[in-house]
Formats: sequence, structure tokens, C-alpha cells
Amino acid sequence: MTTVRTRFAPSPTGFMHIGNLRTALYTYLYAKANGGKFILRIEDTDQERFVEGATEVIYKTLKSCGMDWDEGPDKDGGYGPYIQSQRKDMYLPYAKELVEKGAAYYCFCTKEELDERRAAVEKDGGTWKYDKHCMHMSKEEIQRRLDAGEPYVIRQNIPQSGEASFDDALYGHISVDCSELDDTVLIKADGLPTYNFANVIDDHTMGITHVLRGNEYLSSTPKYNLLYEAFGWEKPIYMHLTPVMRDATHKLSKRNGDPTFEDLLDMGYLREAILNYVVLVGWNPGNDREFFTLDELVEVFGSDGLSKSPAVFDIKKLTWMNGEYIRRMSHDQFKEVATPWLKKQGFDTEKYDMDIIIDLLQPRTERLDSMASLFTFLDDMPEVDVELYTHKKMKTNPEVAKTALESSIPAFEQIDDWTMDNIHAAMLKTVETLGCKNGQVMWPVRIAITGMASTPGGATEIAALLGKDETVRRLKAALAQL
Ligand code: GLU
Repeated sequence: MTTVRTRFAPSPTGFMHIGNLRTALYTYLYAKANGGKFILRIEDTDQERFVEGATEVIYKTLKSCGMDWDEGPDKDGGYGPYIQSQRKDMYLPYAKELVEKGAAYYCFCTKEELDERRAAVEKDGGTWKYDKHCMHMSKEEIQRRLDAGEPYVIRQNIPQSGEASFDDALYGHISVDCSELDDTVLIKADGLPTYNFANVIDDHTMGITHVLRGNEYLSSTPKYNLLYEAFGWEKPIYMHLTPVMRDATHKLSKRNGDPTFEDLLDMGYLREAILNYVVLVGWNPGNDREFFTLDELVEVFGSDGLSKSPAVFDIKKLTWMNGEYIRRMSHDQFKEVATPWLKKQGFDTEKYDMDIIIDLLQPRTERLDSMASLFTFLDDMPEVDVELYTHKKMKTNPEVAKTALESSIPAFEQIDDWTMDNIHAAMLKTVETLGCKNGQVMWPVRIAITGMASTPGGATEIAALLGKDETVRRLKAALAQL
């Protein structure tokens, strides 16, 4: 059996679309799940779209996601080069072979000639496609014009009738009427291949057995297959992937403000959570399981789980999943991840006990970019609204609060070792002395030291974070208000 060889063939655009990331994942997983090879090919023939540093973005993204390629620009497997622009001399001989076979032909039409004929067709309400004007030129004339150094392109010779078709592993039989197809350019006037031609030649010469890619290529593939047939080459198996949607009718798109992979990282989503979620947009394992590492995916991935209908990228679901990933980390793992984020958000990680902060954040955080805002009251004590002391369930009101604070202050002042245990014990003792309910002390204390109806953590954790002096100072200030 031949070894499965898949390729991820991104064009360097400078960022990773979610759809591209998903294609990379499925392509990687398909190869790995089938004991095959995952090949990285950079499709940079379109020099107009060239973006500085964009190739590095691709390397960095794939590497950081754990999608190591078996062959690629930096890893020769005998099928290189793996960067299309470095293969540029390889294509013309193939185009000439097609000319020999009658499947392609030289075309010397100038832009002006083409424009004129196009305008005439369109004036009559027709749709222009190349009119095979140069196809019937004699061999001698072609040679004469080539010898004279006239600029030329090489066009694919599409049959004038019949069908071009192929079988897609997901979409089934796809067929197009040849009469609808244009004799597209394979080799441009500058001698370089068009994207479509390079793609076919590369897939064949790199021994690609399975092509997974976006379904925007579905309609061009029948045409590519005419080329395979003309060469007498075996076709790869195609799996065109349904698009990643923003909603029922719109594709996810950076241009319309949808986040790219890099954007999601900047928004405080974990790489592992994004990968996990993105795999599930358009694929399912055949059961209810949702959480997978990349290695676990290799174990269970199969193309039969690929969806045949477009799937919606639901950021709410990703946010939930991100929270679950955070929950599943150890305290230390989360501390390592969260600390730089907190610093970036202006939180003073030296000033406060980070173990308490981390314990408070871990059960509450969904996105890493919005953690520090939960703790603004640590540095900026808001004015206490006395109304907040009133809480029906806690059976508190400003009067109860006054008594609670009066007794709590000396109890706190007596603590030598300012630990959570001792803080908690001091409050319980106050409860006992007053003969009241826990909430009748703890609620007022928390309000008095935070000024907020809801905070991460209760009076104990927050008093511990603030330290003895600041806690007592806030309690006294709050009491003076009552
Ligand atoms: N370079 C193409 C893109 O980035 C991929 C085409 C293919 O996979 O065949 O859209």
C-alpha cells in the first residue's frame, strides 16, 4: 500500500485564518492517523500578494500548535524545493509536454486584442471566454513567432464538449460541462506558472495522495483533473472541506472583522483550547466526547467524521471550552500562564499574594484578557454605598453592619499572623460573640473592604490579600460612615 502523503499548502498572507488553521489540522491529522506524511508547501507564486515575514508566521503557528511537518522548506524529503517560487523552472517543461499532447497550446494574443474581442462579445450580451483563436496556428507559425521572441502564454485546451468530473470523498461526484470552462492560462508571459497549474504539478511531483482543502477549489478541480488525465497521472483523493461560517449565511472572514488565530490568542484564548474547538467545527468523533489533545486526535481522527454541511464557529462555545481548559490546569500551570497576562493588564503581581489570586481566578476565568478587572478594588477602594449592607438572605442591613464592624475591628487587630485561617477564625469568633449568623459578619466585612456587591472570593481571601493594616484601615473608614 502506498504511504499516505498529505500537504498543507498555505499562501503566505501574514496571518492564520481559522479556516486555514482547521485545514492544517485536518490535513495533519489525516496523515498522522493513517501513518502517513504531512508535507508543508509554501504557495508564494502570487508575488503581488507577497507579505514580508508571512512565511515565518506559518512556521511559527504550525510549530507552536504541535503540527510538525515531515517534509517542508527546512526538511527535505527528496521532493523539494517546498517553496513554490523556488520551483519556478519546473513548470514550463510540463506545459510543453501538454502542448505536445494537444492538451495545451501557445497563445500570442496581446492584451489589446483580447480586450477588443471581449468587449465585442460582452456588447452582444455574451460572457467572454477565450475563443481558442491561437489553437489552430500551424506548427511553423508558432515556431516562427517563438523564434522571433514574441511574448506568449500557454493555455489549457479544454474540450469543446463533454464533461469534466471527479469524485470528491466528501462531496461525491462533481461534474462540469466543458462548454462552461475557459482555456485558462497555465504559463504566464513571464514564464511563471499560474497558481492553478503549479498546484497540480506540485501535488503530482510531490507524490501527494490526499488533498484536503477549502471548498473554494471545488469548482476548479474538474479542470485540474483534465490535466491529470492528459498527463496520464494518477489523481489524488480529494476532500474539499465545507467552510467555517460566522452564521448561517456568512463565512468567517477577517475582512468582516472576524478574528484570526492570532487575534484569538491576543484575546486570551489558550492555544490548546482553540485547536480543540476548531477541530470540532466541521468534524465529530462519532460520540459525545469534546476534549482532545492533538495526540488524542491522531488516535481517533477519521475522515468519516468530517461534516458535509457548513459549520458555524461559535465563539461562545470556544469561550466556554477555554474556561474548561483553565479549570483543568494545575494551580501552578495556571499561575504560569496567568501571571504575564495579569502583568500586561497592569496588575501588580509583586504586591499581592499570587497564590490567593490564582485560586480565586481559576474557577472564574474564561478569557485571560479580562482577569485584572475583577480586582480593581484592591488598589482603588470605591466609596461604599451603605445600601450594599442590606442583604435579605444574609439578614444584614446598615445597623447589623455597624455592630459587626465594631466587633470585627478589634478581633482583626489582635491577629499576629495574618493568614487566611486566622482571619477566618477571627470572624467566626466575632460571630460567636455577637450570637449572630456567619453572613451577618462576613457580608458587612466584605462590603466594607471592597465596596462591591460581588467580588472574586469572600472576606477572608480579600482581607488576606489586602494585608492587616489596609484591612483595618478600610474597616474603620467604613464604620465611620455608618
Ligand atoms: N494556497 C492555497 C490557499 O492558501 C491552498 C490551495 C490548495 O490547498 O490546493 O488557499
